Amino acid sequence: DLPASLLELIRRNADDDPDGEALLELGGERLTHRELWDRSARVAGGLRAAGVERGDRVAVRYPAGVDWVFAFWGVLMAGGIVVAVNTRSTQPEVEFILGDSGTTVDLAADTPLPDGDPFVVDDLARGDVAAFFYTSGTTGSPKGVPTTHEAFLTNTANVSRCFAIPPDIGAELRTLISVPLFHVTGCNSQLLVATYYGGTSVIMPVLDQATLLASLSQQRISFMVTVPAVYALLLRNPAFETTDTSGVRWVAYGGAPIAPVLVSAIQQAFPNARVSNGYGMTETASLMTVLPHEDAVDHADSVGYAVPSVDLAIEPLDDADPSLGELVARGANVTTEYWQRPQATVDTIIDGWLHTGDIVRVDDAGRIHVVDRIKDIINRGGENVSSIEVESALLAAPGVAEAAVLAVPDDVMGEKVGAVLYGGGEEIDVAAVLASVRESIADFKVPQYVALLDEPLPRNPGGKIVKGRIRESVVWGDPLR
Ligand code: ATP
Ligand code: MG
Repeated sequence: DLPASLLELIRRNADDDPDGEALLELGGERLTHRELWDRSARVAGGLRAAGVERGDRVAVRYPAGVDWVFAFWGVLMAGGIVVAVNTRSTQPEVEFILGDSGTTVDLAADTPLPDGDPFVVDDLARGDVAAFFYTSGTTGSPKGVPTTHEAFLTNTANVSRCFAIPPDIGAELRTLISVPLFHVTGCNSQLLVATYYGGTSVIMPVLDQATLLASLSQQRISFMVTVPAVYALLLRNPAFETTDTSGVRWVAYGGAPIAPVLVSAIQQAFPNARVSNGYGMTETASLMTVLPHEDAVDHADSVGYAVPSVDLAIEPLDDADPSLGELVARGANVTTEYWQRPQATVDTIIDGWLHTGDIVRVDDAGRIHVVDRIKDIINRGGENVSSIEVESALLAAPGVAEAAVLAVPDDVMGEKVGAVLYGGGEEIDVAAVLASVRESIADFKVPQYVALLDEPLPRNPGGKIVKGRIRESVVWGDPLR
C-alpha cells in the first residue's frame, strides 16, 4: 500500500520520530525529521510568496547538501514540480533545461533558500508529477522525464523488497549519498529510500575518497550506492586497507556496466554486506531490475530480474534467437512520455512499452544480461560484438584501470573492434593485455586497434563513459593484426 504522496513520508517521520536524524551534510548541518518538515514548509511558503502555484516548475540547482533537500521538499509542499538540474552543466546546457522545462523560479547556487510562512498543499495525488529528471545525455541531448509521486514511491518499495531491507530497520538505515542528487539513483534510490524507512541520509557535498572511506564507520553507514567507476577507485585506494566496512549491510552498484572481477572484489571488501546490481534508467525512476545478493558474485555479468512493479519483454533482433533483443518495459515507475518531445515519445514508447535502447539477453534462469546499448554494439562483418563484454575482459587484464570499446570503421568488415585504455598512471603492456583477453573472449572480439590514454576516460557525472566524446578525439593508429 503506497502513501498518498511523497509528503506523507516526511510527515510521518516528523510525527513518529521528531528528534531522529533525517539528514547530515558532511562538514555541514545535521537535521532532525521535525526540522526537515518545518524548514521545508517555510521554503514552500517563500516559493508561494514568490508566485509559485500548483504545477509550476522550479529548478533546483543547489550543490549536493541540505539546501538541495529543503528545496526538493519545499517545491513539493508548494505544489510545484522540481526540475532537477545537473550542477555540472555549462551555461548553455542550463539555459536549455530551464527553457525546456518551462521553469518559473530558478533556485541557482547563489540564490538564497526561499523563506516564508509555513505552507503545505493538501491536495496532492499519487499520479501528479513531482519532478523532472533529465537523462544523462550519453547518447544525445538530455530529455526531461516527468516523474510522478507514484513512480517515486513505487521505486522505494522496489528497493526495499529487492535489496531485502527489513521494514522495521528505521533509524538504522543510514545511507551515504556520494552520487548526484539530480539523477534518479541518488534522489530516488538513496535519499527517498532513507526517507521511506525513517532513516538518515548522509550527503557528501564533494566526492572525496578519503572522506567517503572514513565516513563508513564514523557515520555508521549501513547502505551505500555508487557507480562501478567509484568502487574501482575506492578499492585501489591505500586507505581502504584500514577502513572498517563491517557495519555496511547493503552495497549496491549500477548506472553503468560493471566488470565481474570488480563485483568479487566488492564482496570481499564488504564482507557483511548484501551486494546487488541495480539496473535502470531515468525513465524508470531508478530501478528496472535487480540482481539479488544470492546471485551477485556467481552471475555478476547479469542485472538480474524485473522489480515487482515492472513488466519486461524482449523485441528480438532477429527471428533466430528470441532471447536476444531490445529490452522494453512498462509499469508503475516507467514514464509514459518525454517532456515536450512528441517525436522522442512516439519513437520510444510504443503501445505503452518503453524501448530502453539496451540490447539484452535472457538466460535459462530468466536473468537479464545487458549486452550493449543499441548505439554502441559493434557489427564486425555480421558478428555482433558487445562492447561491454570486451570491456569486462580488458578490465580483468593486468594493468588496465579503465577501458572503453568502440567500433572502428573498416572498409571490409564494416566495423572493427577498438579499445581505448587507461592504466591509472602506470604503463600498459598491450601484448600482455591482449594475451589475457584472448583467454576469456573469442578471437573475433579481441580488439584490433588499441589507443592508450594518459588520463582517465571522459565520464558524465553519473560515472558513465561518454563514448561520443572518445569517438571524436581518438587516434587509432595502425591495426594490431
Ligand atoms: P541518454 O538517455 O540521455 O543517452 P543515459 O541513457 O546514460 O543517457 P540514464 O537514464 O542515466 O541516461 O542511464 C540509463 C542507462 O544506463 C541504461 O539504459 C543502461 O544503458 C545504463 N545502465 C544503467 N544501469 C546499468 C547497469 N546496472 N548495468 C549496465 N548498464 C546500466
Ligand atoms: Mg538513455
